[in-house]
Amino acid sequence: MEYKRILLKLSGESLANKESSLAIDYKLVKKIAKQLKEVIKMGIEIAIVVGGGNFWRGTSAEKNGISRNRADYIGMLATVMNGLALQSGFEQEGLTVRVLSSMNLDKRVSEYYINEKAQRNLSKKEIVIFVGGTGRPFFTTDTAATLFASEIKANVIFVGKNNVSGVYDEDPKINPNAKRYDEITYEEVLKKNLKVMDSTSFSMARDNNIELIVFNINEENSIIRAVKGEIEHTKVRN
Ligand code: UDP
Repeated sequence: MEYKRILLKLSGESLANKESSLAIDYKLVKKIAKQLKEVIKMGIEIAIVVGGGNFWRGTSAEKNGISRNRADYIGMLATVMNGLALQSGFEQEGLTVRVLSSMNLDKRVSEYYINEKAQRNLSKKEIVIFVGGTGRPFFTTDTAATLFASEIKANVIFVGKNNVSGVYDEDPKINPNAKRYDEITYEEVLKKNLKVMDSTSFSMARDNNIELIVFNINEENSIIRAVKGEIEHTKVRN
């Protein structure tokens, strides 16, 4: 297998249970855990950055008069809630999981992120979930994903999208005839003004030569298939 260490970006929205409007879909968490177990068995180390959009999004709160700083800290706390919920779900499936936070929280809630510690956890085949985003407002968890991938030297980010199987020339939810790219360079994405991640995270990934694999997280066994290259996806590279 070509990957040694990967970073998986899970958006908050992809974790939500749409039917019952619950913040977390526990069945899905179980399914993810089972897949991660398989990926670990392949000898691949897994780090996860989790979003918070199922609970809160800073930019929408700002529109309702909450200051951006405060709204973003609430968003970061939302990612902590998701991380802890994932940890419990994964542990139930027998995985060893560390939740490391960019924010200094009480030790009873979560450990603080220290790079050396994260690297050690990963080498022991423990799953590391990074929460709290970058720890600063005005960023997103996509940027946290590129930042952490750079810090832990994962040269690939698996970007799990909600019912979209990659990068398209147009929005496939609007134009059903939109064309998916199998592979595209960072330069082409910029030239064509395609949306993959927000611009801060995108340029950081490009500068650090990190490959992106964009795939549909909602498909059966999507993570295993994405790691094996056996699912529809788009590879973004330099
Ligand atoms: N956030 C932040 N700094 C970060 C990461 C996240 O302020 O480094 C806040 C921001 O308000 C964001 C919210 O946390 O809207 C949830 O994160 P995000 O929108 O990236 O979650 P996702 O879309 O992946 O669910």
